[in-house]
Formats: sequence, structure tokens, C-alpha cells
Amino acid sequence: MTDLFTTVVRSTVAKRVGVPQPTSLRRYEPGAALCADPVLVAGSGRFEAGLISWLTTVGIATVTNDEPTSDRLGAVILDLSAATDPSELDQLRVIGAPAVKRLARNGRVVVVGTDPATLTDVAAVSTQRALEGVVRSLGKELRAGATANLILARGESAAGVQSAVQFFLSGRSAYVDGQVVRVGESTATNPDPLRPLTGKVAVVTGAARGIGAEIATVLARDGATVVAVDIPGAGDALATVANDIGGTALQVDVTAPDAGRRIVEHATGRHGTLDIVVHNAGITRDKLFVNMDDARWQGVIDVNLGSILRMNTAILADGGMTDGGRIVCVASIAGIAGNRGQTNYGASKAGVIGLVDALSAQLGDRGITVNAVAPGFIETAMTARIPFATREIGRRMNSLQQGGRPIDVAETIAWFAQPGAAAVTGQVLRVCGQSLLGA
Ligand code: NAD
Repeated sequence: MTDLFTTVVRSTVAKRVGVPQPTSLRRYEPGAALCADPVLVAGSGRFEAGLISWLTTVGIATVTNDEPTSDRLGAVILDLSAATDPSELDQLRVIGAPAVKRLARNGRVVVVGTDPATLTDVAAVSTQRALEGVVRSLGKELRAGATANLILARGESAAGVQSAVQFFLSGRSAYVDGQVVRVGESTATNPDPLRPLTGKVAVVTGAARGIGAEIATVLARDGATVVAVDIPGAGDALATVANDIGGTALQVDVTAPDAGRRIVEHATGRHGTLDIVVHNAGITRDKLFVNMDDARWQGVIDVNLGSILRMNTAILADGGMTDGGRIVCVASIAGIAGNRGQTNYGASKAGVIGLVDALSAQLGDRGITVNAVAPGFIETAMTARIPFATREIGRRMNSLQQGGRPIDVAETIAWFAQPGAAAVTGQVLRVCGQSLLGA
């Protein structure tokens, strides 16, 4: 996607006059080290020792706060999960501030805490909630592609925390900044770390182009057999995507009453099972609220929300998705912060977040996780249509000072889909570079 503004600000003249330069983000490459530089692990929480031993197993050098070094750090992991009093928060500053000064380009700060919702002591709840304020503020201070994120553990088991730490350290999370993810109990890990989705059958709607095409490509790269779904009018582009990734194409409008049944029949009939569904198909039909007509309103609500509810009924019925499956929705920051001209779209995407909340709670017994990504400004055909000035504001007004790429959304979805992410459910993770717009 052409980004005229980036071309201009990266020009020699712009560099000479001191225009801030967005950093090239480190993105995931299968097989590449999680971090090129050592990782400081500190904080005396209940996951600290396990994280050190796991990082060592995967070949990452770790340093502790007792072994001072002046080397560059690839990441700083601060485990404050045991903190119960606000006075203990000072550890973050005392250990974290000098470490953050040594953070490499594209470095990572990962804070691990305890989900305040699992605590009753008021001081402990306040202390754990305070971690969110630290991380969201630090994300806004870090530069050179570095990010800060928070993992809140709901239990004692290390596997879910480890899966989230792995995601945040890796290039998969390049455009995820200033966010909070909650993880529950699980012992699941990825049997094949290089191709974690091997043996899985995944359906991706809206897969003919943009973010959906990238999701299909990334899931296939990670080992899944992919069914690419889109409207008949996008049939040629859909066939190209499906052929390129060795998957199959299914032409179906997601708003059709039988869309869910056709998806299940195709996945199970052609590929034997259905393990992962990514509800990505979506449209915008912007208009100010006072001028919003019936077609714009109904169309957006039905494609972006109503169709997902209907398809899920068929997908979750007997003979549909396997237990232990994954449902991932594509929401939007417009569903969190709202957006001028997008009452219909904001409603549909906020509704998707409600769906994730309610359905994840219902499907815990079957081991099916339900999560969403909420993309911010992502460089696609959809955002290329936004008027120039609005587009440039959307693109720059985030902590990473640039738009994200479809791959950033796809990598987050691929993480949710992993067997090792079994402890992650009911989460809405913003892939927005910590957008500064709105709520
Ligand atoms: P896009 O318009 O480039 O692609 C959307 C795809 O969905 C198209 O291939 C289209 O044919 C398909 N589609 C639309 N209606 C359909 C229907 N009824 N049945 C089947 N397929 C249908 O959009 P994108 O930018 O790639 O967006 C993908 C998703 O990400 C959407 O849900 C969108 O709301 C969301 N999103 C995008 C951004 C962004 O910055 N691009 C930001 C937030 C959220």
C-alpha cells in the first residue's frame, strides 16, 4: 500500500530537519530467535523461576537483577504477580527504569500480574490494577519500535503465561502495544513450535483480499489447512488465495441463512474436521447518524454481527467444530472508542465484543476459546478509501507512529488459534500500535 507520508518523512531532507522517523518494526519469521539480545527477568512473582527456565530451554539468554550487566537487553520481563501492596510497585521503577534504558530497538517490556478479578483484598486489587496504568503509560514513552504489554494471570499454571510471553516477545506482536491480556489455567503447549497449527482445519471469512487473505496465508504457514470463504463476486481473487496456500475456496455470502451449514459441510466433508473459525468478513457504510439510512444500518449490522451469531449456531452444533476448537472474531477499535460517521460500524463491532464475552463463558466446558482482535489503522483497501487528512491522522496517532499491516492482525489471530493458547479466552486484543484516538 502506498504511504506517501512515510515516503516524505523518510526522505533525506526530512531526516536532516529532524522530522521524527517511524521505526521499521521487527516482524515474526518462523524459526528466528524470540529475542536477539538477553532478557532480564525479575520481580519475585510466582512465574519468574518458570519463565527463566523456559527461556533457557528455548535458547534465550536471561539475566537477573542480581547479575548487573551493561549489555543491551532484548526484553525486560517484570513479574509482579505476588505484589499485594502499593509500596511493592516501586520495584517496577527501581528494576525497570535502568533496564528500559538498555532496551534494544524493537525491544519488549512485559509485565506479569495477577488478574484483579480473582482477588478480594482491596489493597491487592488496587496494586494489581495499578500495573495497567504503568504499562499503558510506559507504552506511550517507549521509542524505536519497543512495546510494553501486561499479562494478568487468573491462576497458578505457567503454560498460559508462557504462551502470552512468547507472543509478546516475538515479532508476532509487532503492532500490539500498551495492551492487557488475561490468561487462565491450562497445561497445553504447542506440539510443533515451528508449525503450531499442523493438523488443524481453519475457516477464514472475507479471505479474498486485505486482512482476511493475510490471515489465511499466516494460518497456512503455521500448518493449518485453510478454507477461504468470500462472496461469489470475489471468486477469482478467492481462488488465487486458496490455491497459493494449498487450501480450498468456498463462495458463500456470510449473510445467507445457510452460510454456517455450508461452511461446516465444506470443512468436514472436504477436510474431515473443523477446528478454527475466523470471522473476518466485514464492511463499512459510513454516514453521520442523523443521515443514516436503513440499508447502511441493516447491512453493516448484519454482515459484521448478525451473520456471526447465525453461523456460530451451525458451527457449534453437533457435527460442527471439534471440542478444543478456536473462534476468533475481528472487531475494531471503532467498537471500543467509537468513530465519527460509524455509529452502525461501531455498534456492530462493539456487539462482536459482547459476543466474545458471552460465548467464551459458555464454551469453557468444551475447551473452545473465543477471542477477538480489535485492529486500529491497518493499511488495506478499506483504509485507502479514507480521505487523506483523516487517513494521515489515523495512521500516525499511535505510540508506534505508523499504520499497522494486515500481517500484524493475522499474527495475533494465529496466536489465539494455537493449541498453546488454550488458557486465553474471552479476550479482545487491540492491534493498534496503542492508538491515541478515543477511549
Ligand atoms: P476489505 O474490504 O479489504 O476486505 C473484506 C473482505 O470481506 C472482502 O474480501 C469482502 O469481499 C469480504 N466480504 C464482505 N462482505 C461479505 C459477505 N457478506 N460475505 C462474505 N465475504 C464478505 O477489509 P479489511 O480491511 O481487510 O477488513 C477485514 C476486517 O477487519 C473487517 O471485519 C474490518 O471491519 C476489520 N477491520 C479493518 C481495519 C482496517 O484498518 N483495515 C480496522 C479495524 C477492523
